[in-house]
Amino acid sequence: MKIIVAGGDGFCGWPTALYLSKQGHDIAIIDNMARRKWDNELHSNSLTPIASLEERVAKWKELTGKEIRIYDGDLNHYDFLREVLKKEQPEAFAHFAEQRSAPYSMIDREHAVFTQNNNVTGTLNVLYGIKEIVPECHLIKLGTMGEYGTPNIPIEEGYIEIEHKGRKDVLPFPKQPGSFYHLSKVHDSHNITFACKIWGIKATDLNQGVVYGLDTDETKMDPVLANRLDYDGVFGTALNRFIIQSTIGHDLTVYGKGGQTRGFLNIKDTVRCIEIAAENPPENGEFQVFNQFTEEFSVMDLAKMVVNAAKEEGLNTEIAHLENPRVELEEHFFQAENTKLQDLGLEPNLLTEEVIRDIIKTVISHKDRVIKENVLPQVTWK
Ligand code: NAD
Repeated sequence: MKIIVAGGDGFCGWPTALYLSKQGHDIAIIDNMARRKWDNELHSNSLTPIASLEERVAKWKELTGKEIRIYDGDLNHYDFLREVLKKEQPEAFAHFAEQRSAPYSMIDREHAVFTQNNNVTGTLNVLYGIKEIVPECHLIKLGTMGEYGTPNIPIEEGYIEIEHKGRKDVLPFPKQPGSFYHLSKVHDSHNITFACKIWGIKATDLNQGVVYGLDTDETKMDPVLANRLDYDGVFGTALNRFIIQSTIGHDLTVYGKGGQTRGFLNIKDTVRCIEIAAENPPENGEFQVFNQFTEEFSVMDLAKMVVNAAKEEGLNTEIAHLENPRVELEEHFFQAENTKLQDLGLEPNLLTEEVIRDIIKTVISHKDRVIKENVLPQVTWK
């Protein structure tokens, strides 16, 4: 299958591009290198040293003989996107290319506006590009479980059957996002729903949980193929952040009580989920939604697991309860459906202390790169 991976230089996109290429798909990456520029803006870095995208794909070709074409450009530049679509004629478009940090979107007005412009306009351009140039192309869009928020009822996969005043309908599940970033994903979902309805486009929304881990079989083949790993208060996600904190002797930064519960998955499952989505396109005009996570944990569950795993590695780690910089419930009901991807063949890599210890071992070899001032949260919601 010809597949474009937009955002293919990023944490999820790069391992996905390699995995799909290994499976025999013909891959082209679009990325404008924005994520590397945000590191410069925030005086931050990836814990793992990462090669340039050109070096990465050259190494992949050297090791496997497989070519990945790269297009350095912005989805917000429609002329650029049109030319790539015309040239590539993709059958699927895996869309990772967004500003994905909730704290980054909450820094100030400029960052909120940038996030929503970048994400919503970029996706709108992709929808127009598909309509105009490759109407049969399947859009595989990375959404987030954070679109749903934490309602006091079980979360369904995209849609819910509702009976109201004696009438029934299947409607989009209510969305209660918790940041301007998460709101951008909800706006995307609405635009995609509408485009599918009016133009007959086929799309899959992958409402992904928090991704942890860094390696896949492919990224481990050579240091030049290494994946990025974020640990700072802006881009670092829970668990990866805790693991890195444990290796530098920093207290684990649990926000508030730590009862915040979310869906999680290993990066190894992310790449497989994209393959499953590509193999199972919906009908034309349909917007199918999969909840892409394998397990639920509270922030405190994770912190305790990291403390125990770190201890086994000879590291003494404490948990600190910081004042929560976010506005969110710290104790709440959370139960979400996630059966569709597993019914289609996903075999989850579950989180164990052994898995955490393996990540700790990789992290230890790079711990000198940690910029300690970046570890604590500096962005507040208020
Ligand atoms: P990332 O920041 O590491 O990668 C995103 C990539 O997209 C970067 O390489 C960036 O340069 C590129 N990009 C951003 N805007 C672009 C634009 N306008 N044009 C071209 N390229 C652009 O992020 P990630 O962690 O790999 O996340 C990928 C996707 O998965 C995002 O859409 C994110 O919302 C979603 N997601 C991620 C997680 C997670 O835990 N990492 C969880 C849920 C959902």
